[in-house]
Amino acid sequence: MLKPKGFATKVIHTPFAREDANRALQQPIYSNAAFDFESAEQMELAFQGRLPVHSYSRISNPTVENFELRIKEITGALNVTALSSGMAAVSNTILLLASSGSNLIASKYLFGNTYIFFESTIRDFGIEVRFCDLTNMEEVKANIDSQTIGIFVETITNPQLEVADLAALAETAHNGHIPLIADSTLTPPNTFCAKSFGVDLEIISSTKCISGGGTSVGGLIIDYGTFDWSKSKKLAPLSKKYGPFAFNYKLRREIFRNLGACLSPFAAYLQSLGLETLQMRFEKAANNCRDLATYLLTIPQIKCVNYPGIKGSPYDQISAKQFGNFPGAMLTIDFDSRESAFDFMNNLQLIRRATNVYDNKTLILHPASTIYCDFDQQKRESLQVYDTMLRLSLGIEDLEDLKDDIAQAITKLK
Ligand SMILES: *Cc1c(COP(=O)(O)O)cnc(C)c1O
Repeated sequence: MLKPKGFATKVIHTPFAREDANRALQQPIYSNAAFDFESAEQMELAFQGRLPVHSYSRISNPTVENFELRIKEITGALNVTALSSGMAAVSNTILLLASSGSNLIASKYLFGNTYIFFESTIRDFGIEVRFCDLTNMEEVKANIDSQTIGIFVETITNPQLEVADLAALAETAHNGHIPLIADSTLTPPNTFCAKSFGVDLEIISSTKCISGGGTSVGGLIIDYGTFDWSKSKKLAPLSKKYGPFAFNYKLRREIFRNLGACLSPFAAYLQSLGLETLQMRFEKAANNCRDLATYLLTIPQIKCVNYPGIKGSPYDQISAKQFGNFPGAMLTIDFDSRESAFDFMNNLQLIRRATNVYDNKTLILHPASTIYCDFDQQKRESLQVYDTMLRLSLGIEDLEDLKDDIAQAITKLK
């Protein structure tokens, strides 16, 4: 069969793991819990992992597997695991690599729930997160020691929109014998090739762009098989037997299975459908973002427009290198007061007030009073979350309609 090279073709034509009895063109939804075996011997082999079949849907499922295979096809990964949410992908990865006494290096600029997971949840289990400036390699290097389990970075941080140099981070991580873990949710796989920048483990919240318009919650752990696990204290014994599959073995046969955060087959079906149109949708949203950023710069009531693709952004060059023409579909804007920011938000008629990102609809939110409401103002400002700032996630609507909505909301400002 002709081997497709293009992203869109690959994603649409990934073969099923097993031929469908009815020759369905779309992988059907297997919403059952358990699978039948012909014999006790077959069952024994399956449980030993020596027979590639399904036994129980918390462990693996044909609809979920099809979604994982498509991600594997487009990323060139060695192993892909789909989970119930992006947070499940983050927590499974860290709990797999860390033990009490371990530390992890990360920026403090993180998705809000990841930040609290790092700062509080895992600290209670004796895992320290060393918050560093990931754009400063000297600082990163100085924080790596024999207990460090990895560097964790978001490809575009939210809502600060900081972009670190991933190849430099990968080099620093690998010199320190630790993996680079990247949450690339804001730069989907059609626009960002994690493997070519040295990322060893990639995490994606498939709730966002992949789901096809905020249809369902899900997450992915993408393992490129590039890290030598004999360098990891915890995985070295497994690495003797399983080599580059050591991480996946520990994940599938222990952590993922026992924490139980599996993706539902129904969500996997929606996300597989979403994946088929990811490229078209994301390019539209990212183009909308770039064009809207230019428009917003012309509005005097808007004091500042922050977006990595805008001229003059400290990250425009590194973004272009890493994400090509599509440096995300999210931007932030600043007003002169919190009151004007709220007023503007309330005046919008088309753009929705909601907390998701990369929906098909353009969404707006005031991070300080929502995602960061548990923090005091000083803490928020240390995270660059200002009371005057709004975050916009671009959808795939017609740009002119978005501009019209913004223009009327500005005109009505008190
Ligand atoms: C949304 C998000 C997550 C968490 O994903 P869920 O699917 O909501 O659990 C993690 N990282 C980033 C960058 C996100 O945007």
